[in-house]
Amino acid sequence: MKKPYKTLLSYAMVSLVTLLIAYGLFFINQLRCVMVSYSSLRQVEEQIYVDPDMDEIEVQLLLMNIERSKERLNLFFDTTTANPTIIAGHTKSIMEKYGANMKSPGMNHITMLGTFIVLGPGGLNRDVISHELVHSELVSRIGWFNREAEIPTWFDEGLALMLDYRYANSETLWLMLTANGKNAPPLPELANMQDFMRYTEESPFLSYVTASREVSRWWNIVGLKGFNEFTTLIKQGASFEEAYRAIEKKYQSPDIGK
Ligand SMILES: [Zn+2]
Repeated sequence: MKKPYKTLLSYAMVSLVTLLIAYGLFFINQLRCVMVSYSSLRQVEEQIYVDPDMDEIEVQLLLMNIERSKERLNLFFDTTTANPTIIAGHTKSIMEKYGANMKSPGMNHITMLGTFIVLGPGGLNRDVISHELVHSELVSRIGWFNREAEIPTWFDEGLALMLDYRYANSETLWLMLTANGKNAPPLPELANMQDFMRYTEESPFLSYVTASREVSRWWNIVGLKGFNEFTTLIKQGASFEEAYRAIEKKYQSPDIGK
């Protein structure tokens, strides 16, 4: 075998092994979440588990923040349907053991067996909790398979950011990061999580503010009524593209819907 091919092959092998290890670790963490009721974590409410070293004040503060975040969602969506399990800790070991190899303060494992929100030390606040609850709410409304098959990452993230007030004034940031829109990433390039995170690695907020801007624009046209109709269309088998455009078109018309 010629040397360049040999080098290429060994690179491919190393990448494959790294990918398998990363996926394996992610899968193990997912499994830990599914089995959390048998773990050493302390169950503080029906579907809330915390690091046993968290003191009582930290736990009470967390429970209050979860409650207020649920209220934030209830106000926005009128009603909520998701019932995720929440796993939280005040040290980064909780993210290493139950979360993913990401710098994010909170994350979701969305599985066929249910949704598991993992909150690390930077994620015990209402913005991160609300953000993660929105991801759970979307999957609860459209189903696991439809989310996997149809929903682009930019929509899922953009929706979550509507209730994540850290991004409340993201328009200025978007204008700045994209040089007034000139360098904005096209939405199809933010359709899957890997590409979304690739942009995030290059510029920490770029993909998030781009997603947030588009979903806010759409929501301002369609509102909650349009969103509910959009989720119904997805459940009935429409593609994301069809449902997203059809609802926007319907509510753009001055006489319909509102
Ligand atoms: Zn998110």
